[in-house]
Amino acid sequence: MTEQNAIANYLKYTGNKSIDIKVALIDMDGVLYDSMKNHTRAWVKLMTKNGIKCTRDEFYLYEGMTGEAIIKQIFKRGSGKNITDDEAKALYGVKARYFHELGEVGKIAGADQMLAALKQAGLECVLVTGSGQKSILDRIDADFPGVFSDKRITSADVKHGKPNPEPYLKGMAKAEAKANQCIVVENAPLGVQAGHAAGCFTVGVTTGPIPEKDLYKAGADIVYADMNAFAQALPGLIEQFKATQQ
Ligand code: CA
Repeated sequence: MTEQNAIANYLKYTGNKSIDIKVALIDMDGVLYDSMKNHTRAWVKLMTKNGIKCTRDEFYLYEGMTGEAIIKQIFKRGSGKNITDDEAKALYGVKARYFHELGEVGKIAGADQMLAALKQAGLECVLVTGSGQKSILDRIDADFPGVFSDKRITSADVKHGKPNPEPYLKGMAKAEAKANQCIVVENAPLGVQAGHAAGCFTVGVTTGPIPEKDLYKAGADIVYADMNAFAQALPGLIEQFKATQQ
């Protein structure tokens, strides 16, 4: 998929006449941080301790849902038990502790370059994550100084996690932007679905085991092989967006 074709397809199915790009709505796990390996380890530990069979790989498919939603779904499947909101919250606290105990995660290679390219083009960045992982959220400003500050939507701000568009719609509202003024940057199928459903030009980046075709299937407008490739393509992509306004 070329950038030009991706933009033409986007304009066709949304009915928008142009992409007046102003804002990047940026997912956190697997986009800014190389955190998914530890998340999947922590999930399996939680489920195994509760006698529920699961695999690490399946958690890449749930990526983007809130922790509570994942817990309710897997307990229902594994034990037939309906977990209450309070129980889910408590179990998520345990999972968050397991994640924290696995040690500090690094940034995704190319994340800084992506943010630099967005800044260079004058785009405002908003963090949009289903996560409530305090140990990561607390270090965002130190790791990416001056990028997000209070411009963030987390699990605490939404009723429905991804694939519901609510997190991205809230991100758009925070930036006071319309769908055709935003790009979404995502690595997971459910996150891509949410960005697509919000009506934004949605970029998929394959930073984990999920193949490119699954991100296209979820509604990605274009998919890049890794964050460095996306960062390198960004100035050209933004030029192409601007060309739609002429
Ligand atoms: Ca993600």
